[in-house]
Amino acid sequence: MVVDNMKDRIITENKIDFSKLLHVALQEESGIREELNTPILIFVCNEEGKILSKKEIGFHQAATHHQLSIMLPTVIEKQHPIYYDKEDIVTVVSVSIARENLYVGVLANKCKVTERELRLLLTGIKQSVQLAAKEISHNHEESKEIQQYKHVVSLLQRANFTMEFSRLQQSIKQAAEGLFGDQKWELLFYQLENDKLFVPIFSSTKEYRSTDHTYVIKKEKIEQYQIVTEKTYRHEDVFEAEHQFASFVCIPLHHQGELYGLILLCFHDHSPPQEHITNFIAFIHDVAVLLHHAWLNEIKEIEQKRRQLLLSVTKKFHSSMDVSEILEEIIYALGEMYPNFDVTLLLSREWEVKQNLPVKQIQYGVGISSGMVENAFLTGKIQIDDNNGVVYAPLRGKQGVYGVMEITTNASFILPYHEVDFVEMLADVGGNALENAELYQQSRNLINDLQLINQTSHQLNSNLRLTETINFMTNQILSSFLAEEVGFIMFHPNGELAVLEGSTSYYFDESSQAEMMRISEKVKREKDALFIGDMEADDQYSLSMFRSMLAVPMIQSGELKGMVLVLHRKPYHFTFENFKLLQSLIHHSTLAFTNSMLREELEKLVVTDYLTKLYSRSYLDEKVQESMNRDANGCFVLLDIDNFKRINDTFGHQVGDDIIIQVANVMKKNIREDDIAARWGGEELAVYLPNVQPDAAEMAGERIVQAVSRETSPRVTVSCGISYWKQEGEPSLNSLVKLADEALYEAKMNGKNKVVIRK
Ligand code: GH3
Ligand code: MG
Ligand code: MG
Repeated sequence: MVVDNMKDRIITENKIDFSKLLHVALQEESGIREELNTPILIFVCNEEGKILSKKEIGFHQAATHHQLSIMLPTVIEKQHPIYYDKEDIVTVVSVSIARENLYVGVLANKCKVTERELRLLLTGIKQSVQLAAKEISHNHEESKEIQQYKHVVSLLQRANFTMEFSRLQQSIKQAAEGLFGDQKWELLFYQLENDKLFVPIFSSTKEYRSTDHTYVIKKEKIEQYQIVTEKTYRHEDVFEAEHQFASFVCIPLHHQGELYGLILLCFHDHSPPQEHITNFIAFIHDVAVLLHHAWLNEIKEIEQKRRQLLLSVTKKFHSSMDVSEILEEIIYALGEMYPNFDVTLLLSREWEVKQNLPVKQIQYGVGISSGMVENAFLTGKIQIDDNNGVVYAPLRGKQGVYGVMEITTNASFILPYHEVDFVEMLADVGGNALENAELYQQSRNLINDLQLINQTSHQLNSNLRLTETINFMTNQILSSFLAEEVGFIMFHPNGELAVLEGSTSYYFDESSQAEMMRISEKVKREKDALFIGDMEADDQYSLSMFRSMLAVPMIQSGELKGMVLVLHRKPYHFTFENFKLLQSLIHHSTLAFTNSMLREELEKLVVTDYLTKLYSRSYLDEKVQESMNRDANGCFVLLDIDNFKRINDTFGHQVGDDIIIQVANVMKKNIREDDIAARWGGEELAVYLPNVQPDAAEMAGERIVQAVSRETSPRVTVSCGISYWKQEGEPSLNSLVKLADEALYEAKMNGKNKVVIRK
């Protein structure tokens, strides 16, 4: 019952004269006029859209009023700016006056104002209207509430009723100017951060920005005082910075009993009269609520912007595989949030990114903050260098850290804690992008490696001759590793090195053989691969002008057979991946090498060819050598079946083999007992005629050529090249064969099915 009475009394006492309301609230409206530079209509209406109070600022269009009253219920319902009439925008914000739900609204030209401006203005007007309503209903001049009202309204008026934090700061500064104008003073605003730190938000003087102090005050210390002045405050409790001031006033800002900030007023020369300080403190006290309100607004806006930036960065991340593009987006986002900061990306390795990106490679142990770069990189945790105002955020992926984002702030501004989260999130997007690109590259490399191994084992399985195998491997290694020299070096039991045919030219030099000795000894000793980035830096090795080296032992059934040596003149040319891949290539191919070597050795031991029953080539070699030591002269006849590929292609290999047998038999029929007929290789046959003059050999050759063309079926012809030696010269098997080869070539070039002799 008592409560009800109370309520009734308040309502009657609070009867509002609405016609007066806006005029009281906006006493000083000229600021708005200046600010917006467009006519506007400000009004207070009830929930049905009935206008209770209005104030026109340069507004004349009577017709609009009518339209407005039609529009208002919809605007109220939507609580969102509504455009109409092509040119006008109207928006409202709810306000509670004398326990009634009312709305304050604005109508303006939409080309002249932004939604944000309107909203900030409306929030300011709302504050003023609420206070004005109280003033009108109370009407006793000296009450404390009226004093507060005056302070708030004066602050709002100074800010042209725009509830923007920076405006209010400026207004506070102006108020301070009014009180301490002729003194040298500074005004600092601190925001409570993370329960511990105060971060300066603004300063009244420009110079402050250039001083390199970060003002850090512990919250616990501040909470102990309500208002602190020089006399009660111990320096060591607070800053380092204020020592330069003669005195200061520290004004904590509270909202609903919670500390949210701090204003510091510092005087350079001497304290102003106590009365002025008291006035200023009272003023700040009264406007603290308003400041808090604007501050929350600002945080909301920043939060929104941050969310948008983060969203666009993540969108980019999901839509593009291009690291450059993603990093660019991140740097753009940071630039939008912190226009004064410098951002550099320190990456752990070289990346191909666009020229304009601020990218560097991490240099270990260099620069003042290098320890922090390394810490960020190694621990994956953000590092903050308060002294130099630098933040190091690791670019983290899911599997590792790919670099560090270095953000250089201007020294007087430290990155607030909630901003650190934002920076970390951006850095993580960057790290993930780098990781994806890296994984993609790795999988590409892996595919290439597998292709190389696959191709190689295919080739090795096709039973090539050793030289062809080595040739093939050499070319693979040259092209895959961009090597300059590739050598296959076999270790002889007697300690000598044998360079296999098919290796590149460097290894066949006399001088290189000596140089390779040391490396071969090391490989023999350790039976392990060597990966040398720069041989110049290691005096164990020296291979003429080469700096990079890979050496891989060839081990078969636990036995060291030789090594493969891959070289490049540039230091650090080969990567560790190259090294690993070469090891696995050699590992896979050693069996094939040793098999072909065995086969070739075996072939030498065999005297007769299994297909033609002619002698083997090695047997022929031996016999020629013997004849050269014993006889006066001799002839070498080399035969090659013409267009034999075509026979194989037309009739198949079986028939091809049969033709080789037929030709062999024709040959045998047309030579003497002492002559040695051999299968030289493939479809090439040879006869050695000891103690025979060239003319006789030529006739024998002609005989065979003609008989072959008559007696074979399917019919083939052969070409024949003949060479001879006599004791006067310096007979050698090699030159004898070479000459016959040349003669054979000439026969082929001159129409085939004929004999050419090198006399
Ligand atoms: P030309 O000598 O007239 O220049 O032509 P060609 O078609 O005979 O050419 P080439 O001598 O280069 O080719 C020889 C072919 O003989 C290649 C190979 O497939 C085939 N060949 C080599 N050895 C054998 C074998 O033992 N049996 C069969 N069936 N074919 C063989
Ligand atoms: Mg041939
Ligand atoms: Mg041929």
